[in-house]
Amino acid sequence: MLNIILFGPPGAGKGTQSARLIEKYGLVHLSTGDVFRYNIKNQTELGVLAKSFIDKGQLVPDEVTNHMVKDFIARNNNDKGFIFDGYPRTIAQGENLDRVLEEYQANVTSMIALEVDEDELVIRLLERGKSRGRADDQDEAIIRNRFKVYNDETSPLANFYATKGKFIAVKGKGSIDEIFQNLCKAIDGVSQL
Ligand code: AMP
Repeated sequence: MLNIILFGPPGAGKGTQSARLIEKYGLVHLSTGDVFRYNIKNQTELGVLAKSFIDKGQLVPDEVTNHMVKDFIARNNNDKGFIFDGYPRTIAQGENLDRVLEEYQANVTSMIALEVDEDELVIRLLERGKSRGRADDQDEAIIRNRFKVYNDETSPLANFYATKGKFIAVKGKGSIDEIFQNLCKAIDGVSQL
């Protein structure tokens, strides 16, 4: 089983690259952001709750997110593995993921981090806000808050996986194809271990 965490700040290209990676490796894609947006669209109880945090650029509370992920893994359990996109985002979420995967005698294979400069990210996010209409991508103040949350709460996860020897950094600049090739190289390296 290959369980890859695709890591990186908002706008790093995790969604775009995940779509290609699941096709190549046959993995199941879990984007917590997509699951929240689906629930918001369908006005579920979870969606109403998540929206109040997402609209401010804040994280949805860990208990809510962890519960949702546990449920998703139970429903999508498979032999090949998962790409986690936008999860975990806090150390508590990382610990939860370890616990949940352990129930299936599995573990995180690697965290692969896409590294991109913050100024480039703001430009990409504002463009995405215009083309895809995501409210949290249209307001620079909300975008800056998401970076602050990323730097304060999410980036410590890099060290969490580095100490386990499971952290790989990949250059997130260049064409979509070039970045995809870099990611494949990293994944092929760990899948042969
Ligand atoms: P994303 O599509 O990954 O950029 O996520 C959009 C928003 O959904 C984030 O800014 C958070 O408000 C929320 N969100 C997504 N994933 C998580 C997570 N793992 N933990 C908490 N909040 C999340």
